[in-house]
Amino acid sequence: MSRIVYVNGNYLPEEEATVSIFDRGFLMADGVYEVTSVLDGKILEFPGHSARLERSLRELDMALPVTMDELLTIHRELVARNELVEGMIYLQVTRGNPGDRDFAFPDPAATPSTLVLFTQSKPGLADNPVAKKGIKVISIEDIRWGRRDIKTVQLLYPSMGKMMAKKAGADDAWMVEDGFVTEGTSNNVYIVKDGKIITRQLSQDILHGITRAAVLRYAAEAQMEVVERAFTIAEAQAADEAFFTSASAFVMPVVEIDGVALSEGKVGPVATRLREIYLDESRKTAI
Ligand code: PMP
Repeated sequence: MSRIVYVNGNYLPEEEATVSIFDRGFLMADGVYEVTSVLDGKILEFPGHSARLERSLRELDMALPVTMDELLTIHRELVARNELVEGMIYLQVTRGNPGDRDFAFPDPAATPSTLVLFTQSKPGLADNPVAKKGIKVISIEDIRWGRRDIKTVQLLYPSMGKMMAKKAGADDAWMVEDGFVTEGTSNNVYIVKDGKIITRQLSQDILHGITRAAVLRYAAEAQMEVVERAFTIAEAQAADEAFFTSASAFVMPVVEIDGVALSEGKVGPVATRLREIYLDESRKTAI
């Protein structure tokens, strides 16, 4: 069975789905995206992802060609048509196809946004064995643009960071600006010291993770202490635990930073507990 994807109002087999070469997403990375996870055939954290999408679009003066109710229907339709049980739904909105290349934004009345969604099946996503082992990260300089709170499709530097990590025998890279960790290539990052969970405060320097918001809420409900402030790589290397969060990896333990093992390279209890709580709670609220 061919995967069914959504493009501008149509559900099509992936081989038949096309976008113009003049689309500003292709020419200018003029687009935003969201990734939501699916467990048991249900969508996780849809209200959070749709609210962030609306904010990204507003910040860039871009229109969504459908209503939020229609967007939820499209998500559900793709889950049903692809019989998706466990995996992700990727959504991208771009400033459309003005029919030529020009730096100035086109008139939105003449150039509708492009909307594309597709599913990615990932059986075993929740029961990922990597979460029991933890991952290794390296640190790299954060040289991205200054509006990382907008979820744009400009992902070249994070992709390069991922390749730098692979080359160094690690799994991911933590980005550092002015001596402090901003975030992972595609995730928000945390350390745990003396029972306190420490993660960088929200600003334009990082993406406001939907998983981050949920995990911090669950941590507070479980009487865990959370401190929102920046930290250095040296502080992270001296921490009891580290982990990251993202919609598709949930809560993922980090056991090594720039070659230094944390807690003798073993996954810690706080990350393990938060992963369990997050998976339980998000399954309950999935729609
Ligand atoms: N930061 C960056 C740079 C990301 O790309 C992502 C994932 N898209 C996140 C944080 C985590 O956000 P979320 O929990 O909403 O997936």
